[in-house]
Parts: sequence; structure tokens; C-alpha cells
Amino acid sequence: MFQPDPTPWQAAAACAGLSPSVVFARRERQAAPALEACAACPVARECEEAVAPAESWFDGVCAGRLWRNGRAVKPRSPRARRAAGAVPAGDPFDVRAVAAQLDAALAGTGGTRG
Ligand code: SF4
Repeated sequence: MFQPDPTPWQAAAACAGLSPSVVFARRERQAAPALEACAACPVARECEEAVAPAESWFDGVCAGRLWRNGRAVKPRSPRARRAAGAVPAGDPFDVRAVAAQLDAALAGTGGTRG
């Protein structure tokens, strides 16, 4: 079967040697080797930009997270949590971080958050 040459970032992907059934797994247990690869992947940002998991309704592993129908699946196992924490790709929306930033900003003005 013909397969096009990978782009430079794809050639550097830490998951390059893994089975597609692992990289495109829908369950965390099957995806664990890919999630671990993400933790050491030098092209996680490029991967997330190219795949655009939310916009493409992606199923599988991308940038340290397991995605199902374009939504990041909350990591359950310690291995998956480590993988997600190791990749600096953008969090979809970290409510606690935003609240902490708001608190810090309001502390400087003497204001409070409702
Ligand atoms: S971030 Fe993860 S899924 Fe993306 S290329 Fe790297 S190892 Fe593969």
C-alpha cells in the first residue's frame, strides 16, 4: 500500500513506531503506550496544530491527551495523568487557573470575586 512520506514533524513523532490501533484507540488502556510517547514527544505542539482535535472531531491520542469525538477525555490512570501533564500543549480551558489569575488580579485592586 502506498503511503506518502511523512512530514518532518511526523518523522520526529515519538509515536511513529506505534500501531495505529494504539494511536487511534478510543479507550485509555489501549492508548496508554501512545500517551506515554506523548510525554517525551518533541513535536507535540505541531501534532496538536495539525490534528486540531476539537475542530476535526478527532478520536485517538494527540498532544498528551486521549480525544473522543473531538473532546479531551479526562485522564483516569496515573500514567495518563502524567502524560497529559508532561505535554505543554494548550489546555482546553483550565477553570482553576483562570480563577487563580482572577484572584491575583483582584488582590492587586482590593476587589473580590463574587
Ligand atoms: S504528541 Fe503524541 S500523538 Fe502527537 S506526534 Fe507526539 S507522540 Fe504522537
